[in-house]
Amino acid sequence: MRAALYPGSFDPITYGHLDIVRRARKVFDKLTIAVVENPRKGALFSAEERKRLVERALEEVGIEDVPVITYSGLLIECAKALGVVAIVRGLRATSDFDYEFQMALTNRDLDSDIETVFFMTAGTYCFLSSSMVKEVKRYGGDVSKFVPRCVERALEEKFRETA
Ligand code: ADP
Repeated sequence: MRAALYPGSFDPITYGHLDIVRRARKVFDKLTIAVVENPRKGALFSAEERKRLVERALEEVGIEDVPVITYSGLLIECAKALGVVAIVRGLRATSDFDYEFQMALTNRDLDSDIETVFFMTAGTYCFLSSSMVKEVKRYGGDVSKFVPRCVERALEEKFRETA
Protein backbone atom coordinates (compact mmCIF):
# COMPACT_ATOMS: atom_id res chain seq x y z
CA MET A 1 0.00 0.00 0.00
CA ARG A 2 1.39 3.41 -0.99
CA ALA A 3 0.62 5.97 1.68
CA ALA A 4 1.40 9.69 1.61
CA LEU A 5 1.32 12.58 4.02
CA TYR A 6 0.04 16.07 3.15
CA PRO A 7 1.46 18.52 5.71
CA GLY A 8 0.69 22.21 6.09
CA SER A 9 -0.49 25.01 8.32
CA PHE A 10 -4.07 24.93 6.98
CA ASP A 11 -4.80 28.26 8.70
CA PRO A 12 -7.53 27.78 7.49
CA ILE A 13 -8.04 25.07 4.85
CA THR A 14 -9.15 26.41 1.44
CA TYR A 15 -10.54 24.92 -1.79
CA GLY A 16 -6.91 25.08 -3.06
CA HIS A 17 -5.81 22.61 -0.37
CA LEU A 18 -8.86 20.43 -1.05
CA ASP A 19 -7.98 20.37 -4.75
CA ILE A 20 -4.54 18.97 -3.87
CA VAL A 21 -6.16 16.38 -1.58
CA ARG A 22 -8.38 15.17 -4.46
CA ARG A 23 -5.44 14.93 -6.85
CA ALA A 24 -3.18 13.14 -4.35
CA ARG A 25 -5.92 10.65 -3.53
CA LYS A 26 -5.97 9.50 -7.15
CA VAL A 27 -2.29 8.62 -6.97
CA PHE A 28 -1.87 7.21 -3.46
CA ASP A 29 -3.80 4.43 -1.71
CA LYS A 30 -3.90 6.34 1.53
CA LEU A 31 -3.52 10.02 2.31
CA THR A 32 -3.17 11.56 5.77
CA ILE A 33 -3.34 15.29 6.37
CA ALA A 34 -0.91 16.60 9.00
CA VAL A 35 -1.63 19.99 10.55
CA VAL A 36 1.60 21.56 11.82
CA GLU A 37 1.20 22.75 15.41
CA ASN A 38 3.65 25.64 15.25
CA PRO A 39 3.63 27.15 11.79
CA ARG A 40 6.44 29.48 10.72
CA LYS A 41 4.00 32.35 10.71
CA GLY A 42 1.72 32.91 13.74
CA ALA A 43 -1.60 31.16 13.17
CA LEU A 44 -5.07 32.66 13.54
CA PHE A 45 -6.57 29.31 14.58
CA SER A 46 -5.11 26.92 17.16
CA ALA A 47 -3.82 23.56 15.90
CA GLU A 48 -6.93 21.80 17.27
CA GLU A 49 -9.23 24.34 15.61
CA ARG A 50 -7.39 23.93 12.28
CA LYS A 51 -7.60 20.14 12.54
CA ARG A 52 -11.36 20.25 13.27
CA LEU A 53 -11.88 22.63 10.36
CA VAL A 54 -10.00 20.33 7.99
CA GLU A 55 -12.20 17.43 9.15
CA ARG A 56 -15.39 19.42 8.74
CA ALA A 57 -14.33 20.80 5.34
CA LEU A 58 -13.57 17.27 4.07
CA GLU A 59 -17.00 16.18 5.25
CA GLU A 60 -18.69 19.22 3.66
CA VAL A 61 -17.17 18.53 0.22
CA GLY A 62 -17.69 14.75 0.50
CA ILE A 63 -14.09 13.52 0.73
CA GLU A 64 -13.96 10.36 2.85
CA ASP A 65 -11.20 8.30 4.42
CA VAL A 66 -8.61 11.02 4.83
CA PRO A 67 -7.49 11.04 8.47
CA VAL A 68 -6.26 14.31 9.95
CA ILE A 69 -3.53 14.52 12.60
CA THR A 70 -1.55 17.31 14.20
CA TYR A 71 2.22 17.16 14.58
CA SER A 72 5.01 19.19 16.07
CA GLY A 73 8.73 18.79 15.54
CA LEU A 74 10.36 17.41 12.42
CA LEU A 75 8.00 16.58 9.58
CA ILE A 76 10.23 13.76 8.37
CA GLU A 77 9.95 12.03 11.77
CA CYS A 78 6.17 12.18 11.50
CA ALA A 79 6.36 10.78 7.95
CA LYS A 80 8.63 7.94 9.09
CA ALA A 81 6.42 7.09 12.04
CA LEU A 82 3.44 6.77 9.70
CA GLY A 83 5.43 4.68 7.21
CA VAL A 84 4.53 6.86 4.19
CA VAL A 85 6.44 6.74 0.90
CA ALA A 86 5.82 10.38 0.04
CA ILE A 87 5.19 13.88 1.29
CA VAL A 88 2.62 15.75 -0.79
CA ARG A 89 2.83 19.49 -1.42
CA GLY A 90 0.92 21.82 -3.70
CA LEU A 91 2.38 24.26 -6.20
CA ARG A 92 0.56 27.40 -7.24
CA ALA A 93 2.81 29.87 -9.01
CA THR A 94 6.58 29.97 -9.38
CA SER A 95 6.65 31.97 -6.11
CA ASP A 96 6.12 28.69 -4.19
CA PHE A 97 9.07 27.05 -5.89
CA ASP A 98 12.15 28.27 -3.97
CA TYR A 99 10.80 27.46 -0.54
CA GLU A 100 9.32 24.12 -1.61
CA PHE A 101 12.56 23.13 -3.39
CA GLN A 102 14.60 23.94 -0.30
CA MET A 103 12.30 22.01 1.98
CA ALA A 104 12.11 18.99 -0.34
CA LEU A 105 15.92 18.78 -0.57
CA THR A 106 16.31 19.16 3.20
CA ASN A 107 13.80 16.40 3.83
CA ARG A 108 15.57 14.19 1.28
CA ASP A 109 18.85 14.77 3.15
CA LEU A 110 17.14 13.69 6.35
CA ASP A 111 15.59 10.58 4.79
CA SER A 112 16.32 9.64 1.19
CA ASP A 113 13.57 6.99 1.14
CA ILE A 114 10.74 9.50 1.41
CA GLU A 115 10.02 11.45 -1.79
CA THR A 116 8.34 14.85 -1.93
CA VAL A 117 5.68 14.88 -4.64
CA PHE A 118 4.18 18.09 -6.00
CA PHE A 119 0.73 18.52 -7.45
CA MET A 120 -0.15 21.53 -9.59
CA THR A 121 -3.19 23.41 -8.46
CA ALA A 122 -6.23 24.02 -10.66
CA GLY A 123 -5.96 27.34 -12.54
CA THR A 124 -8.86 28.73 -10.50
CA TYR A 125 -6.92 28.35 -7.25
CA CYS A 126 -3.63 29.67 -8.52
CA PHE A 127 -3.79 32.86 -6.46
CA LEU A 128 -5.63 31.39 -3.51
CA SER A 129 -3.90 31.30 -0.14
CA SER A 130 -5.04 31.07 3.48
CA SER A 131 -3.56 34.54 4.13
CA MET A 132 -5.53 36.05 1.26
CA VAL A 133 -8.76 34.48 2.58
CA LYS A 134 -8.11 35.85 6.09
CA GLU A 135 -7.36 39.30 4.72
CA VAL A 136 -10.52 39.43 2.59
CA LYS A 137 -12.74 38.10 5.40
CA ARG A 138 -11.22 40.39 8.03
CA TYR A 139 -12.53 43.35 6.05
CA GLY A 140 -15.93 41.79 5.44
CA GLY A 141 -15.38 40.47 1.89
CA ASP A 142 -17.07 37.41 0.41
CA VAL A 143 -14.87 34.30 0.58
CA SER A 144 -17.49 31.74 -0.40
CA LYS A 145 -15.66 30.95 -3.65
CA PHE A 146 -12.47 30.15 -1.76
CA VAL A 147 -13.47 28.12 1.31
CA PRO A 148 -16.25 25.76 2.41
CA ARG A 149 -19.12 27.21 4.42
CA CYS A 150 -17.84 25.79 7.74
CA VAL A 151 -14.56 27.68 7.29
CA GLU A 152 -16.36 30.89 6.40
CA ARG A 153 -18.42 30.63 9.57
CA ALA A 154 -15.34 29.88 11.70
CA LEU A 155 -13.62 32.99 10.28
CA GLU A 156 -16.68 35.12 11.08
CA GLU A 157 -16.66 33.85 14.68
CA LYS A 158 -12.92 34.31 15.04
CA PHE A 159 -13.00 37.90 13.82
CA ARG A 160 -15.98 38.67 16.07
CA GLU A 161 -14.03 37.29 19.07
CA THR A 162 -10.91 39.28 18.26
CA ALA A 163 -12.70 42.51 17.24
P1 ADP B 1 2.72 25.80 4.85
O1 ADP B 1 2.84 26.81 5.95
O2 ADP B 1 3.33 24.47 5.19
O3 ADP B 1 3.14 26.29 3.49
P2 ADP B 1 -0.02 25.96 3.89
O4 ADP B 1 -1.28 25.53 4.57
O5 ADP B 1 0.10 27.40 3.54
O6 ADP B 1 1.14 25.46 4.82
O7 ADP B 1 0.17 25.10 2.56
C1 ADP B 1 0.29 23.71 2.58
C2 ADP B 1 0.60 23.22 1.17
O8 ADP B 1 -0.55 23.46 0.34
C3 ADP B 1 1.77 23.94 0.49
O9 ADP B 1 2.46 23.02 -0.32
C4 ADP B 1 1.09 24.98 -0.36
O10 ADP B 1 1.89 25.32 -1.50
C5 ADP B 1 -0.17 24.23 -0.78
N1 ADP B 1 -1.25 25.15 -1.13
C6 ADP B 1 -1.75 26.17 -0.42
N2 ADP B 1 -2.73 26.82 -1.10
C7 ADP B 1 -2.82 26.18 -2.29
C8 ADP B 1 -3.62 26.37 -3.47
N3 ADP B 1 -4.47 27.38 -3.59
N4 ADP B 1 -3.44 25.50 -4.49
C9 ADP B 1 -2.54 24.51 -4.39
N5 ADP B 1 -1.75 24.29 -3.34
C10 ADP B 1 -1.88 25.10 -2.29
